[in-house]
Amino acid sequence: MSTTLERIAPFTNEPVKKFSDPQEIAEMQAALARVKARFGERYPLVIGGRRVETEKQILSRNPAHKSEIVGSVSSASAAQAEEAIELAAATFESWKRESFELRAEVLFRAAALMRERRYEFDALLVYEVGKNWAEAEGETTEAIDFLEYYAREALRYGGEHPIVPFPGERNELRYIPLGVGAVIPPWNFALAILVGMTAAALVTGNTVVLKPSSDSPVIAARVVDLFEEAGLPAGALNFIPGSGSVIGDLVVGHPKTRFISFTGSKEVGLHINELAAKTAPGQRWIKRVVAEMGGKDSIVVAADADLDAAVEGVAVSAFGFTGQKCSACSRAIVEAPVYEAFVERLRARVAKISVGDPSLPDTGMGPVVSESAFKSISQYIEIGKGEGRLLCGGNAIGDEGYFLEPTVIVDVAPEARISCEEIFGPVLSVHKARDFDHALEIANNTEFGLTGSLYTTDRAKIERARDEFFVGNLYFNRKSTGALVGVHPFGGFNMSGTDSKAGGRDYLLLFLQAKSISEKLS
Ligand code: NAD
Repeated sequence: MSTTLERIAPFTNEPVKKFSDPQEIAEMQAALARVKARFGERYPLVIGGRRVETEKQILSRNPAHKSEIVGSVSSASAAQAEEAIELAAATFESWKRESFELRAEVLFRAAALMRERRYEFDALLVYEVGKNWAEAEGETTEAIDFLEYYAREALRYGGEHPIVPFPGERNELRYIPLGVGAVIPPWNFALAILVGMTAAALVTGNTVVLKPSSDSPVIAARVVDLFEEAGLPAGALNFIPGSGSVIGDLVVGHPKTRFISFTGSKEVGLHINELAAKTAPGQRWIKRVVAEMGGKDSIVVAADADLDAAVEGVAVSAFGFTGQKCSACSRAIVEAPVYEAFVERLRARVAKISVGDPSLPDTGMGPVVSESAFKSISQYIEIGKGEGRLLCGGNAIGDEGYFLEPTVIVDVAPEARISCEEIFGPVLSVHKARDFDHALEIANNTEFGLTGSLYTTDRAKIERARDEFFVGNLYFNRKSTGALVGVHPFGGFNMSGTDSKAGGRDYLLLFLQAKSISEKLS
């Protein structure tokens, strides 16, 4: 093991600010004011370290006040995306030769800078994607965790690896980077997932072209600045916001792109996978695709469960960040003997969720991210009204922002559309199961397999679910959201993706290839 590794304390999760202390509240309010004062600022592309302004701009709106423009971000042309890939390929020749220690140092410095500016990143998340204070702070700490965790992991991969001794030979296995990676994150963890995917690619010695979501390009621009401040050389991280269908397809299909690290919807993920499988003229490798995609996550409530805990877990998992998490509970499957009691208690619990402006400290649920999300979720609510009984919610609130009520539809058939398709908003379907067998059958009946949770006091049910509940992240007697870096490595089965287990020990391997070296001793 390297000496650097020995000097570094073992990884622990960053403590989350609870905003219970007046000092923390004051600092958050000051950060919100500072971020607001910069509304409308312009953010350029970054290609080979050069800032490039384009005429075409992406306007990033505050979803709680649609008339407010958080920032205006340059939109890359095809030629600029091409140039970014070329410069990333040229920079790869030097960046790949740097030591794992040096690259890890960049991540440690980036983590320190983010810790210093945590409230500013919290405030950006509030304004650009509509997170409430607690959700925003949870995300910023997760971003810090990814930097700290992957820096340590890089040191481990850069160290010696066990190999069986063989007489007369000196043998070695070492890990080397892949090349230029297209990093394509979603808007819903605009900071943490973007930082995690980018940091993992860079710390292993790859160079990156980053195409952020058009719903959260300002946060992405700030992260690019932060990496530069942390000492990343020009050309290692190139920033090319733009249209998915033009810029996205170009970077995915380019012969110099070596791998694609994608997190987003199933539809876009499958499209990328297909495009990446085609060999472009001049391409010298099979592209590697890491695609983390959607979910349709169930919480099973057994007849013997602590019902209050189950109701709380379902409500928090379904409506935290307005249901816009891949891990959000979008279906509650309840055993028949407790179904009616569960539904009544859930109605009372959901009624307590306050919907409003997430920049205010006590807001429970903010807006959905965009007009297109608002329309798509509203359509699903209409479909749901025909597929079950509307228990609560179902309406839009005002027209200042994209606000929807938390919506629960009960008595839904397991194969209904709202039960099987990802809605990605504050809509929960509730299903009655005849017994525990039936509950597990319903839980496994979609094409997804991301997260799932079971509330029960019966050890035998826990043991069965451990084997039979087919999801990448399974939880017992707790919410289905809130995976912690290092503690709950994250990734899903089936159409939820390639099960990359972000925040786990296997993750960096996805950005590396191993070289086996053998020398005959004389
Ligand atoms: P999305 O699929 O619409 O977009 C994801 C990214 O892909 C964005 O940056 C977008 O600009 C880009 N893109 C769009 N078309 C492209 C193309 N043709 N080529 C290349 N890139 C293209 O998803 P979203 O709305 O940003 O995020 C929400 C989705 O992400 C949900 O389905 C959610 O479940 C999923 N998600 C999954 C995880 C996970 O770990 N499994 C985590 C977070 C979000």
